[in-house]
Amino acid sequence: MTVFLCSKCGAAITPYLVQLPAVPVPTEDQHDRDVETRRAPSTVPRGCYAVDPEPWGPPFVVQADQENPQRAQPRGVLVCTEEGFITSAGGRDTVVVHPEDALGLQPLPGWKNSNGCCGPRGDEGLNRTCPCGAPVATLAADCFGPFELHLDPIRTYAFSQ
Ligand SMILES: [Zn+2]
Ligand SMILES: [Zn+2]
Repeated sequence: MTVFLCSKCGAAITPYLVQLPAVPVPTEDQHDRDVETRRAPSTVPRGCYAVDPEPWGPPFVVQADQENPQRAQPRGVLVCTEEGFITSAGGRDTVVVHPEDALGLQPLPGWKNSNGCCGPRGDEGLNRTCPCGAPVATLAADCFGPFELHLDPIRTYAFSQ
């Protein structure tokens, strides 16, 4: 069992969670989305976490293979700019948890990095803070892409028992 804490103030951000061997592959059936929030089911179930080995968040770079483009972020969508399809070159090993297992987190002032349609896309960088004010996580909760909370592996730390 592992609890995740804020690196700045030491407060617990999550309850004790059980590690999954890998990030689950979520359903992409649009009918599985919540009727009101338009969110997908959470990638990670309550009470669990998984370490995502793939890059997450900015910066984004043009993909080498434009013929077989990959999603811009894991479980997300294809993103094409004027230069071509882009992909994340952000940090690896973020900790993916169910957003409702970290309900004490708050949006950044002015909802910075929380742009999206029905919720934050989660592709602009950290957008959730610890109650102490330190940005610690990125929430993705839009009507396309996944519903998941990524804890920053430097701004949070794990304590296991
Ligand atoms: Zn804190
Ligand atoms: Zn929407």
